[in-house]
Amino acid sequence: MPKPKQILQNTFGYAEFRPPQGEIIDTVLAGGDALVLMPTGGGKSLCYQVPALARDGCAIVISPLIALMQDQVDALKQLGIRASFLNSTLPPFEAEAVEQQLLTGELDLLYIAPERLNQPRMLELLAQSRLALFAIDEAHCVSQWGHDFRSDYLKLTLLHEQFPAVPRIALTATADARTRAEIVSRLDLGEARQFIAGFDRPNICYRIAPRHNPKTQLLKFLKNEHPNDAGIVYCLSRNKTEQIAAWLCEEGFTALPYHAGLSSEMRAYHQSRFLKEDGVIVVATIAFGMGIDKPDVRFVAHLDLPKTVESYYQETGRAGRDGQPADAWMVYGLQDVIKLRQMMANSEGSEEHKRAEQHRLNAMLGLCEITSCRRQALLGYFGEELPEPCGNCDTCLNPVDTWDGTEAARMALSAAYRTGQRFGVNHLIDVLRGAENDRIFQWDHHLLPTHGVGRDLDANQWRSVFRQLVARGYFSVDLEGFGSLRLEPKCRPLLKGEESIDLRREVKQTAAKRQTKTPLPENLDVGLWEALRDCRRRLAEAQGVPPYVIFHDSTLQEMCVTQPTSMSQFSELGGVGQRKLDKYGEVFLRVIADQKGLVPQESDLTA
Ligand code: ADP
Ligand code: ZN
Repeated sequence: MPKPKQILQNTFGYAEFRPPQGEIIDTVLAGGDALVLMPTGGGKSLCYQVPALARDGCAIVISPLIALMQDQVDALKQLGIRASFLNSTLPPFEAEAVEQQLLTGELDLLYIAPERLNQPRMLELLAQSRLALFAIDEAHCVSQWGHDFRSDYLKLTLLHEQFPAVPRIALTATADARTRAEIVSRLDLGEARQFIAGFDRPNICYRIAPRHNPKTQLLKFLKNEHPNDAGIVYCLSRNKTEQIAAWLCEEGFTALPYHAGLSSEMRAYHQSRFLKEDGVIVVATIAFGMGIDKPDVRFVAHLDLPKTVESYYQETGRAGRDGQPADAWMVYGLQDVIKLRQMMANSEGSEEHKRAEQHRLNAMLGLCEITSCRRQALLGYFGEELPEPCGNCDTCLNPVDTWDGTEAARMALSAAYRTGQRFGVNHLIDVLRGAENDRIFQWDHHLLPTHGVGRDLDANQWRSVFRQLVARGYFSVDLEGFGSLRLEPKCRPLLKGEESIDLRREVKQTAAKRQTKTPLPENLDVGLWEALRDCRRRLAEAQGVPPYVIFHDSTLQEMCVTQPTSMSQFSELGGVGQRKLDKYGEVFLRVIADQKGLVPQESDLTA
């Protein structure tokens, strides 16, 4: 067996490489450079961890995610890999010990913060050590276009200058061509082989629904589908994250707020509870998530609309990194559009910048209102084509009914036009439905020909019509005029009868009918599942590591299904390498035997 595959099976406990992994590893093993572009959860880490073990010397991993280094190293140690890290959180005497290990060849992998690498002392140390490779994680940090720019990354070209014989592998999940070109030029990777994996995350089920009563909708989603799962709820404002977190706690969930206004201790504490406890929900602004690589986040819920498809993709991408089914769930309404457009109008940027932002928001709205497969649209946005509808998004699972909204749209446009384009949605609905209230009389709107022409639709249906017309750019929202609606040139052909329009029919949001299996198969032995999770939790707590570092959910599930009774059966489970077999095999076999009322044979346990 070739060495990399042996390492994959014996150390990591996985049977096969995923498609580009094998080739990437071969490239690096042969001493070549590689640029790896893979979505979150695609399996980037193995691409440098396997060569780190297969090659002589220590692999140096440059990563900006200092807060995560400890966890990453803990996880590697669980696999029996000699890993360590150097960053500013380490007391000097410990750092010195690590440096010594590097010099004497006692390390397979060393994570370091980029600012360290630029210190002469560090470079000298590297020059005296045997190096297997350099891995540059989160390589998009060299890009000044992106939002994660780190100036220390610019100096990483010196790796190539000072250590021309050591192969380099740069990794990122950031897609766009401009960033990629910048990585290549700034890191001097012109000779590197590029590996670009698709951006699809097939295990994520995308669901977007109109917002009626967000709390009720969220509660139903959580209670029905994720009662004990870890997840993230994103909100736009700090205030709202606090309120929602407090309310979820009242409803019996473990929910913690996270936003830039909390002290750094509080944020670190909440993040660590999210990582280390089972089933914690973090209610956060977008400040939360950069580099969270918790694999078992089962859902990401948005109560407010992200500004761009890029943000939506990045935020939802934090779900299901372990490849198990996960939900990206969102509710949104007209209010979001108004609020976001307002924020953009008030932002500092140039007119050109504002137009670009507007454009990106429109793409996001397009994704919300689309009646065909969401995944096709999402991937299409990133320039990737999915030939068939995916079968794992809300529009695929519950096909959207459309109706001919031409007449209703004309009524809505005409109501806005005849009232001087000075009124917001609520008043226009009153006009259309023929309301007789003070405001109507005050403006003589009961005298308009449009007054009462729209009684056939109720207020919610009208709201849906207006939302779709705004989202599709027939109306613009005047932000100084308290959200009054103005007609856009796009509506001319519709008003003239040259064009018709199909609108989404809103249905009460039901649980998506899944074709993929949910994280817990229905016939799963719940008692055994809970007992295994309990065992994992105890082991994790004893070592101060997150539970998924012991075993991923998928491994526990496999235990439930296959119910191994011997060490050799246990070693067949995905994610069980030699070290974990030795360390945890017996404990878990006992739990399984206890639950099943079997007495394990001593010979089985030691076989
Ligand atoms: P990324 O860094 O690209 O976001 P990770 O390296 O964290 O992704 O890998 C995501 C998950 O996939 C991890 O749980 C990892 O153990 C798992 N994984 C990676 N490669 C394989 C493989 N060949 N077989 C099975 N699981 C894998
Ligand atoms: Zn689909």
